[in-house]
Amino acid sequence: MSEQWIYLNKEFVKKEDAKVSVYDHGFLYGDGVFEGIRMYDGNVFRLEHHLERLYDSAHSIMLKIKQTKEEMTDIIVETLKKNKLQDAYIRIVVSRGVGNLGLDPFTCKEPQVIVIAESLALFPKHLYESGIDIVTVASRRNRSDVLSPKVKSLNYLNNILVKIEANLAGVSEALMLNDQGYVAEGSADNIFIVKGNVIKTPPGYVGALEGITRNAIMEIARKKGYDMREETFTRHDVYVADEVFLTGTAAEVIAVVKVDGRVIGEGKPGKTTNELLGAFRNIVTVDGVSVYPSKRDVQAG
Ligand code: PMP
Repeated sequence: MSEQWIYLNKEFVKKEDAKVSVYDHGFLYGDGVFEGIRMYDGNVFRLEHHLERLYDSAHSIMLKIKQTKEEMTDIIVETLKKNKLQDAYIRIVVSRGVGNLGLDPFTCKEPQVIVIAESLALFPKHLYESGIDIVTVASRRNRSDVLSPKVKSLNYLNNILVKIEANLAGVSEALMLNDQGYVAEGSADNIFIVKGNVIKTPPGYVGALEGITRNAIMEIARKKGYDMREETFTRHDVYVADEVFLTGTAAEVIAVVKVDGRVIGEGKPGKTTNELLGAFRNIVTVDGVSVYPSKRDVQAG
């Protein structure tokens, strides 16, 4: 396998050498922001949307990213080219940087910027064909008026605890409720339910991240004439839906065929889910930033 190069604070270093200080507040306190992005056949899907969310998250926690969005775009493109990738999962991390042991972020001199790009498939292929089984977990979503889900921060303990519960229950994903018992999202994906022509996904204030995949699916659904709504709903609505699916950059669009032991619809990926997934696959290679405007660049390496 060829070497993997990581962008780390203005230089490319080999994966084995990509190390950061134990005094980095991202490490000590989860103080920082991140993004997960995908490149499909040389196209970084909706890169501008991801960068907007990254910079908005940073602004919200008073973390000033020194690079402009244009510079960050160049860094990402360079990282992908350096690793000669055509299809990839990209992780951008901007941590508060190295400070002292206290909480105070203003002791940190400079944010650290890291870009990792590699091949990734979250779920095995057969699960996209069969659909997945999920369970409601006991851990609730962080209250959105305490830590806004719109901030994609390095503090992911809430999601990790949920993932642990799903793993212990022997399923690959969790259904997370908010503090009031309304459906919020999965551990790292948004949830949609389909009933007839109506498709619902929880609004951000319920505790859902405003996912880039979620937004793309909502646009596609509306264009296709579905009655697409951002609305609160309960577990009961999930149980009696015709179809349920999850969306996320890593997970893409994956059908859910069982929730808390209740079979959803016919127990296999439904017509609407497949239709939306098909349309999503049509846009991912064209909507975004092209890394190799001329394919010759790839061959030349
Ligand atoms: N919710 C959470 C908590 C997530 O971490 C993610 C992954 N970024 C999503 C939803 C899906 O968002 P996106 O489609 O932008 O990847």
